[in-house]
Amino acid sequence: ASEQLSKTETIKLRNQHIGQACQLFYRSDPLKIVRGQGQYMFDEEGTRYLDCINNVAHVGHCHPEVVRAGALQMATISTNNRFLHDELVQCARTLTSKMPEPLSVCFFVNSGSEANDLALRLARNFTKRQDVITLDHAYHGHLQSVMEVSPYKFNQPGGEPKPDYVHVAPCPDVYGGKFTDKMYPDADMGALYAQPIEEICQKQLAKGQGVAAFIAESLQSCGGQILPPAGYFQAVYDAVRSAGGVCIADEVQVGFGRVGSHYWAFETQNVIPDIVCVAKPMGNGHPVGAVVTTPEIAQAFHATGVAYFNTYGGNPVSCAIANAVMRVIDEEELQQKALVLGDYLLEECNRLKEDFECIGDVRGAGLFVGIELVQDRKERIPDKKAAHWVVNRMKQLHRVLVSSDGPNDNVIKLKPPMCFNRENADEFLLGFRECLTAVMQDRLASATTAAMAATSGVIATASETLANKTKLFERQDRLIKSV
Ligand code: PMP
Repeated sequence: ASEQLSKTETIKLRNQHIGQACQLFYRSDPLKIVRGQGQYMFDEEGTRYLDCINNVAHVGHCHPEVVRAGALQMATISTNNRFLHDELVQCARTLTSKMPEPLSVCFFVNSGSEANDLALRLARNFTKRQDVITLDHAYHGHLQSVMEVSPYKFNQPGGEPKPDYVHVAPCPDVYGGKFTDKMYPDADMGALYAQPIEEICQKQLAKGQGVAAFIAESLQSCGGQILPPAGYFQAVYDAVRSAGGVCIADEVQVGFGRVGSHYWAFETQNVIPDIVCVAKPMGNGHPVGAVVTTPEIAQAFHATGVAYFNTYGGNPVSCAIANAVMRVIDEEELQQKALVLGDYLLEECNRLKEDFECIGDVRGAGLFVGIELVQDRKERIPDKKAAHWVVNRMKQLHRVLVSSDGPNDNVIKLKPPMCFNRENADEFLLGFRECLTAVMQDRLASATTAAMAATSGVIATASETLANKTKLFERQDRLIKSV
């Protein structure tokens, strides 16, 4: 593959015709990616980048089996799901076979936003309620309906105000959240973080309204790679269900074996949601998503009498691709590999933490890892500047793509394609160690400069005092002489 336009021309056309609000990685020196293979991406000059951020290319960029399945189906038939097709029903069968009972009914969509939008619709229809509980810093998509439950967006300056029927509970971040394990070393953190949700539910019940749904990522990614404390979802699900609501698990980023120990991240908390939303990794880059729910909730939706239709959702090409992705995950044992490699990455990052004061916390599950950079480890003061600096240096010097996120944008995120291997982990670790060394050297240099400035201040004061004293002595001397 090669480029059709010069990079300068591509940038010029993008600036002219693509909305400025659209995000662009490394905006001051953007990357032009022309090809991908496995865990690597290549720019127009053929430079290879190790991709540690693309959880969409789940089984690896352009995986041959996925490409073959999609191309073959595209050359055969692609039409909507108002016709019978084997790929559709097989996709639903495989997807639901990966879920616990009673999650057995699918609705196919084209993106994570669409999945969450439909999940809210199903929940509101089933419960005949409107209020939704979401978590602080959560992101659930770009549609109007899901922006309303995405504090990650609406809390930004310029974000639209939150509607009254949306309730925001604290993000269960035990390192840097509202309740930390530093503040409450002996507390049951799961129970502590579930409490604000129990209170919202009680208030809603007292108002006679209850809640329609609780929506949360099983591990919050935009929140800064957050692993909720043990028992958290169980307590929350109990409270929400007591208030008449249903529980929606957003597995758009973390599903399909990424966490290693389980196929779905909600399973790590030993809960069964009422609705599960999946997308990104499901199509390995092709737009496909799904909402999986219980027969009861699906039946209530049917009972409205309003038929559901989605032109592209569940088309044979998307389903053939999703089927190939799920097949590859199993055949290549990617979930098991994510577990082993994730453990290795965590262990090595914790080793780095021993050597580098600027690492405050290392957390993760499988190939979902967060490394929190801090100015002061004891006080847990976030270091956004260092995180941005590391992200850029990793790209420019080491050709490794990582990103930063979290409310303070100081968490280095890793969520690479699942074909990431031990050599790749070592390549990341080597580059990361160099970056951390540079961060610490920079800190040392700043501290030395500050110390030198302080010392020269002291010297200046001392010499001023000396000069004044000399003047005084001279005056006294003159006085003595004149007497
Ligand atoms: N949910 C989560 C947790 C996400 O991270 C995203 C996308 N970043 C979405 C939903 C929305 O998915 P999409 O961009 O496919 O609409």
